[in-house]
Amino acid sequence: MRLFPCQNCSQVLHFENTSCVKCGAVLGYLPEPNALSALEPAGDEGEFTARAAPGGVWRFCDNAREDACNWLLPGDSEERFCLACRHNRTIPDISDPLNKARWQKIEVAKHRAFYSFIRLRLPLTDRTRDPEGGLAFDFLADAPEAGQQVMTGHDNGLITLALVEADDAERAARRAAMGEPYRTLLGHFRHESGHYFWDRLVRDGGRLEECRAVFGDDGQDYGAALQRHYDQGPPADWQGNFVSTYATAHPWEDFAETWAHYLHIVDTLEMARALGMEVSPRADRTGELSAEVAFDPYRSTDIATVMEAWVPLTVAVNSLNRSMGIADLYPFVLSPAVVRKLGFIQSLTHGTVPGG
Ligand SMILES: [Zn+2]
Ligand SMILES: [Zn+2]
Repeated sequence: MRLFPCQNCSQVLHFENTSCVKCGAVLGYLPEPNALSALEPAGDEGEFTARAAPGGVWRFCDNAREDACNWLLPGDSEERFCLACRHNRTIPDISDPLNKARWQKIEVAKHRAFYSFIRLRLPLTDRTRDPEGGLAFDFLADAPEAGQQVMTGHDNGLITLALVEADDAERAARRAAMGEPYRTLLGHFRHESGHYFWDRLVRDGGRLEECRAVFGDDGQDYGAALQRHYDQGPPADWQGNFVSTYATAHPWEDFAETWAHYLHIVDTLEMARALGMEVSPRADRTGELSAEVAFDPYRSTDIATVMEAWVPLTVAVNSLNRSMGIADLYPFVLSPAVVRKLGFIQSLTHGTVPGG
């Protein structure tokens, strides 16, 4: 993610902004050319011209009416929803204010996830074009009176997210119960999307054997593997080979966990670059903990370069967090085996062979 300048007044803007706090300009996000643009009303009601994309006419995604989206689509588009929102299959009953507030938080995370998908030019097919395997979301409230608790997960492109995950206390309780160091809405989108992109890029992309060589044989029974994970926990030496304990459950989960981390890393590095961040700890006489982000992480095809920036940066920001008495920004250790897996994910997102 990056920051954006207001085209009217040069105020620094954030991805979710809908108006400029300094000049009052109405703002909308254009996925192409990746700009948060100041808008001017055009001829017809609800249509705008965009300072960042002269010549075109734009209108807001229908979810803008619910304060759930600030993305634009072409004025003559047949779609009602933007590139991110057209994948919503089910949203909760937003006449209930609590549901609506939770859904809006989910949408913030979803749009950030889509920002990365689009930056990486990943294949995004919705359910209208591919009813069987297109990417779709069900954001569902629990129905306790029916004894129904929504399970977050992925099934053939359909990602279900329990609405209650948007409740901070509930999510923290689940994180503690699962023994996880990190649990966020954005993390859910990044993890579950990994299953969808595995279908597209690995299974349908002819990379299955290569993927198995890195993540292991996914032919083993998935249900039995998960049950074993919940009964026995991870192997004692899991940190040597896996980014998280959940990644040890099955090669598909290892892939999704590693995929999520790849997105965490490139997106956070992009923001570090946008901020001009450099770290050079005075106590470090070796220079190993020094870094600047002098490259576009979304375009990098060298995982070693990415790691040379990422590791020092996480040491720095984790140290800042500890100074404030809060949890580490990045509470994970990346072993050489995990970096190799991240390298495979990177090659997948760029359509190249590792090392090639
Ligand atoms: Zn402005
Ligand atoms: Zn939208």
